[in-house]
Amino acid sequence: MDSERAIGTPSKTKEVLQKHGFSFKKSLGQNFIVDSNILENIVDKAGVHSNSGVIEIGPGIGALTEHLAKKAKKVLAFEIDQRLLPILEDSLKDYPVQIIHQDILKADVQKEINTYLSECKDLKIVANLPYYITTPILMKLLMDKLPVSSITVMIQKEVAERMAAKPNTKAYGSLSIAVQYYTEAKVVMTVPKTVFVPPPNVDSSILHLTLRKQPPVEVADEELFFELVKASFAQRRKTLNNNLSNHFKGKLEKDKIQEILKKAQVDPTRRGESLTMKEFANVTNTLKETLEQNN
Ligand code: SAM
Repeated sequence: MDSERAIGTPSKTKEVLQKHGFSFKKSLGQNFIVDSNILENIVDKAGVHSNSGVIEIGPGIGALTEHLAKKAKKVLAFEIDQRLLPILEDSLKDYPVQIIHQDILKADVQKEINTYLSECKDLKIVANLPYYITTPILMKLLMDKLPVSSITVMIQKEVAERMAAKPNTKAYGSLSIAVQYYTEAKVVMTVPKTVFVPPPNVDSSILHLTLRKQPPVEVADEELFFELVKASFAQRRKTLNNNLSNHFKGKLEKDKIQEILKKAQVDPTRRGESLTMKEFANVTNTLKETLEQNN
């Protein structure tokens, strides 16, 4: 790309912002990327190609959108801030981009895919996410069960590490399991604050999620599985037996919980952070059997 004319450079961004008299809204997580190499890197890590239909969240003034649109067949972008619409219309007029003015958390993404990306063979989500709602956005996109092959996002470094964390690490918790149940998660790059205007208070990472066709473990009841996982991490220093006894108080006695854990071949004195997803699945399935027998 002609880096002189690209949107995502310090000078061009400054020019665009001045031309439109735009002022950043911190409450909307507006930190724009002004480094062409990083933008190119995100598009590369996402594996965008000429048949890709890309869904972007929060195009800002279009820095990443432009790089995506150069490689992809089409880009569909959701932007909440109305003030950015005329800017995007101006800066992206020569590209195959559709902007939807909507809060991504309220959007019917599947409907917009059907309308704008139906001819694209491969769908990907790529974004530099607003950090104040990273987790709700990613969980919504996963829960919506969209027909996308991957999600590549710039997010807060610490959150990226939690999402990709393995058992027996400080970062491992219910968020790691929620994300890894649906995807294979990998932190692919750490990015310094200096590539953003204005710079955020935290470091950032690019997280790449490959959507799974099937969950990696068999659970008899997904809701119970996620409830159990959350309860197991309620107090990280406590044993599984203690956390689960607190959570299921009134429904299951402490010795019953101990029995369930033993039956699932998990030592009740272990802590949640040491359990693999498979072990959580085993406990869920044993727990479900017991709850059904009790009813
Ligand atoms: N993509 C641009 C870039 O990389 O330079 C801007 C990224 S900036 C971190 C996040 C963008 O998300 C902003 O443009 C902000 O207005 C937008 N945004 C914030 N909350 C949103 C929401 N709930 N739905 C859609 N867009 C949102």
